[in-house]
Amino acid sequence: MQPWLARNFVYRPATWVRGEPVFSLLESYKKSQWWSPERHREDQVKKLGHILRHAAQSTTYYRAIAEGLGIAPSDLNASHLRDFPYLQKQHLVENNAALQAWRLPGTTSWKTTGGSTGVAVRLRKNRWATAAEQAASWRSYGWYGLQAGDRQARFWGTPIRARGRARYRAIDWVLNRSRFSAFAFGPKDLDRYYAQLRIQKPHWAYGYVSMLTEFARHCQTKRLPLQDLKIRAVVTTSEMLTEGDRSLIQNAFQAPVYNEYGCGEVGAILYECDRGTLHAMAENLHFELKPDPTEQEPEAHALIVTDLHNLATPLIRYEIGDRVVPLGADCPCGRGLAGFRTVFGRAYDFIETADGTRYHGEFFLYMIEEARESGVPILQAQFSQKTAKNLEIRLVTQPGYKDHHGAALIERVEEMSSHRLKCQVTVVPQLERERSGKLRLIQSLKSA
Ligand SMILES: [Zn+2]
Repeated sequence: MQPWLARNFVYRPATWVRGEPVFSLLESYKKSQWWSPERHREDQVKKLGHILRHAAQSTTYYRAIAEGLGIAPSDLNASHLRDFPYLQKQHLVENNAALQAWRLPGTTSWKTTGGSTGVAVRLRKNRWATAAEQAASWRSYGWYGLQAGDRQARFWGTPIRARGRARYRAIDWVLNRSRFSAFAFGPKDLDRYYAQLRIQKPHWAYGYVSMLTEFARHCQTKRLPLQDLKIRAVVTTSEMLTEGDRSLIQNAFQAPVYNEYGCGEVGAILYECDRGTLHAMAENLHFELKPDPTEQEPEAHALIVTDLHNLATPLIRYEIGDRVVPLGADCPCGRGLAGFRTVFGRAYDFIETADGTRYHGEFFLYMIEEARESGVPILQAQFSQKTAKNLEIRLVTQPGYKDHHGAALIERVEEMSSHRLKCQVTVVPQLERERSGKLRLIQSLKSA
């Protein structure tokens, strides 16, 4: 589809129908990126006061917290933020209903988020919040010379169930993008993707670092040229981008590579500018940094965010579980959005079978999500590869779990992997953590 047509006759009406003011927010975000840091702080103080009051007035979870603090919900302001407890992903799972606002004008949508922590969460969002996330993303893609409607090649997951696939096809059509499945990418798939790219001629590519790296390497090894496609930018996300990956992708595509950092719970968090600084989406998120040094990065801080727009499920002081290193200076690009040198802690592995087929973490998360949706009481899961073929699925279950649930899961994973994987299920009281304290969804032979 032509970008202009896609932007103005498909995407724009779609946002209008959904009640998401993406385009008007985008215009205001294009201006506010040049605000001074002080002006951003003032703006955040206002928004923080509003979200704290709303949370305590409209959710069981935060009302109890305000009561515990002895503060009337209507008296809350930004200075009370530090008295609120941190919120972890585990709390989102356990207190999902209590965190949802009971009074909310307008409609909401649901977002299922995965991530590398072995816990998938369903989260409700109001339209303004989802619009603010999209506006922040489009503002940043604009830094790369892209705008809504430009054709995108998306190296990403594909839902397993037919209903989910139909929904994604519709979303892809609205956003003028074509999808290259990250779930299994053997050499034959990569050849097919290359042929598809040549036909579709995308303006940009977007996707998981691991998959784009794999594809770039494949194209270089087989001498499949990509530079004549004149791709404007490659945006990588969801996984850590090493300098080696960056130059590999850059060389193969002959296009600049930019790193995006976000999570399903709060959307876009950091975007890289053309000076290599990762900038905070300050209009949407309030950041707190807790010193959390590592040997390599003594300046590292744990990132804690408060979503300034999600009224449907207020997320206050949410501990994402990743670390950032502040830039410690103003970025030469001149934007007033706080800058960071790096973000890390996003190990998102894949499992490789004997014939070289790779299964991304999302593949396994979808399996768990699917089981959950059909009523299997799974709290957490972890996939541990024992040999090229043998996979142990560790489950933390809830009351009501039966052996046949595990057997059905095994059958499903084996079938979906075309029997490249042979599985066993072990029910455990809790999952093993890394030395860093982080839970890993995937323990592959490579990461062991
Ligand atoms: Zn910058």
